Amino acid sequence: MRDILLVDMNAFFIMCESRRDKTLLNKPAAVAGDPKYRSGIILASNYEARKYGIRVTMTINEALKLYPDLILVKPDHAYYEKCSSQVFKLLYEYTPIIEINSIDEAWMDVTNSRKLFGTPLDIATSIQNRLKDEMGLWCSIGISENKFLAKMASDIKKPLGITTLYKNEIEDVLWPMPVRNLYGIGKVTAEKLINEGVNTIGDLATCDVAYLVKKFGKYGFYLYNRSNGIDDDPVCPVQAENLSCGRMETLAQDIIDIKEAKKVMALLTDSVARTLRRRKLEGSVVTVQIKYNTFKMINRQMQIEQSNLTKDIYNAACKLLEDNWDEDKPVRLLGVSVGSLKGKDMQISMDFQDREKEEKLEETIDELKDKFGKNLIKRGNVL
Ligand SMILES: [Mg+2]
Repeated sequence: MRDILLVDMNAFFIMCESRRDKTLLNKPAAVAGDPKYRSGIILASNYEARKYGIRVTMTINEALKLYPDLILVKPDHAYYEKCSSQVFKLLYEYTPIIEINSIDEAWMDVTNSRKLFGTPLDIATSIQNRLKDEMGLWCSIGISENKFLAKMASDIKKPLGITTLYKNEIEDVLWPMPVRNLYGIGKVTAEKLINEGVNTIGDLATCDVAYLVKKFGKYGFYLYNRSNGIDDDPVCPVQAENLSCGRMETLAQDIIDIKEAKKVMALLTDSVARTLRRRKLEGSVVTVQIKYNTFKMINRQMQIEQSNLTKDIYNAACKLLEDNWDEDKPVRLLGVSVGSLKGKDMQISMDFQDREKEEKLEETIDELKDKFGKNLIKRGNVL
């Protein structure tokens, strides 16, 4: 049996802010998208603010109605990323097998850490105390035999919880939970299930698997397995530097024609997608960088279905180019990066049809490279 932890930071952004401004401690405070605009939203609220019902995604206006003296702090993502890498650095002291799931949470496989650091509970306790004492940051930790149950366990007690949830406990603990609480379930799927009378995770677990597969395809297996506490996915080490992967190119000549830009994008997205596939990663945020000959640079991003296929990344990049192209502004550099990366079991993700389609695109790209590549591109900078 494996020993898996999920470490989830509590109220991460606002706790980071409290590290550098101690006056925020013990007072209701929140990080919010530009407080100048009262329609901005709450990105993180501390536990004092939560006592007044102030929650993430509420508008600033709504929050101030609940507690007029709420302290609002502008977000500083660069700082949160710095704090986040300090957190992960501490986690790496216990095991090298860490899968970073987001800026504030990671799975750890500590199966082979027992000799050095004790039981999973010892390790979780040590991590929680050290994050609190050394960094002033709080976390909740879930302990189990697989990633899914560890994640579900971590949500049970917040803040500063340590919760175990093993397969033999799921009937008592997991099954009574509402079906929408199942990790990995989308809003739409949850609604569909509730409409059919599947209200709890237990209801889902006792559904006929054939019915779920008929209704949701491959995803039906996921729902059936997870609700029964089954998850064989390994903790797939994703290094912090792999959280995004990108390339940019300085162009030989400034370009004003979007068609030319798309050709360059084909080369860049192909290179990025190949790197992702080699590292067995997939991403769900595509960012395009455009630098004009005035040296002004813009970044535009969009969400996609998790993927490492050239076509998906290329299509998103082209959409972003189309939405932001200005024929009056010559462009001297283009870049693309893919973020929110996750480890991926390739065999499940890429069915045969996808491969075929993808191979066709690769051929097209090779043609493009022969035709235009050498003239268009001066040199490659791998980010
Ligand atoms: Mg989290």
